[in-house]
Amino acid sequence: MAFKKTIDVQAAVAIAAAEAIAAKTQGTFGVGGLMLDQHGNVLQSLHNNVIKQGLIFDPTAHGERQLIDWYYAERAKGRELPAPEDITLVTSLDPCCMCSGAILAGGFNVVVAAPDKNAGINFDQAATFDALPASLRAQAGASFGYPAVLGSSQYSRAGSGAAPKSFFIGKTIAEPTQALCSLVFEATSAEVMEKFSTDPSQELLRDPATLAPDHAIVRALKQLYPDALAYRCAPRLPDAGLAPFLTQAMARDREHGGAGDAVALLDSFGNLLLCMPGRMSQSGIRSAFMETTRAYAQLRYKLMNGATLAQQDEVRKFLGHPKDGTFVFAHGPDGGAVSFMNLGAYGSTMEGPLPAANPTQFQYVLSAMPEADLAAICAAMPPLYRDVIRIRPTPVADHALIAALT
Ligand SMILES: [Zn+2]
Repeated sequence: MAFKKTIDVQAAVAIAAAEAIAAKTQGTFGVGGLMLDQHGNVLQSLHNNVIKQGLIFDPTAHGERQLIDWYYAERAKGRELPAPEDITLVTSLDPCCMCSGAILAGGFNVVVAAPDKNAGINFDQAATFDALPASLRAQAGASFGYPAVLGSSQYSRAGSGAAPKSFFIGKTIAEPTQALCSLVFEATSAEVMEKFSTDPSQELLRDPATLAPDHAIVRALKQLYPDALAYRCAPRLPDAGLAPFLTQAMARDREHGGAGDAVALLDSFGNLLLCMPGRMSQSGIRSAFMETTRAYAQLRYKLMNGATLAQQDEVRKFLGHPKDGTFVFAHGPDGGAVSFMNLGAYGSTMEGPLPAANPTQFQYVLSAMPEADLAAICAAMPPLYRDVIRIRPTPVADHALIAALT
């Protein structure tokens, strides 16, 4: 949508709300947002794209995350844009943990309309940001703003968090617009989360290693990652055989401006499906985990979009939802913004409870902090992450794998 300039919080939130309605029409989470420069010029506006054509397209395609990647992509093309601290995102819904991590990692400002009591970083609406690791709370307090909503209904509120930037002349949100932002999201949330539980359960999954090498699923998988199916371990027990694949991706991550992270995805049979580096030189939020989970979702989408229901069913069986597999991070989470974004993106990948039989879905090789400290970070996350998904990163069991990466 083409809008030029806004110096009014209400007008900016109205643009985000219009995007949220477009998202609902697409059948994805009803959330929208925009990016403003320090004068109020609208640089870009867009909406959630998690679901397209009734299928999961990209679990990381939330509005704020897409706006930030758009910003870095424009800069990489040579466009002159203000520094992140002079940029304000405006979003119809409180940022989730992934988007909050992305906003903090980049150093952007955000103005938030509707609350999200389930996954929002300000889920308790106290604006103290206790859901963040301690080292990030002060930055959030200075850059995440919740403008006052004038009125007397359940949608009204006093302002909290960071004050809107000085270019905003109008600094409040109108009650009907705030209500619209809440209602559009609520109207889509349950239906979209249902899309994350339509995949066959683990006992119905089939082993892609039994497919002929020229099968369309195998060809698409190897086109994305040539070493796919080249390694296999006992289910959920990655061993030292995974080390060369991680090491190679870690080296590529460094070439791409990262700190040497890599993330592998194993399926429920123990097959290696993907092992990706990040692309941090392209965008400060393209971490190895973001690349891996996005690549896998988009592979499934590409194979299923436009296919018959029988073909879709075959894809779902041979390439199961990641919740039945294992993500193996070369580096475990630390207390920083990119790690928090990864934890949030992990939550957005799952969107519902991990299978009871697979509590160690999230494994890491090298630890960056004591397990108890990491558990405390996860226990402070908003309800979706701590109570529903129950995110619990665990170290890999195989000491030879740890030794091989140390
Ligand atoms: Zn988000």
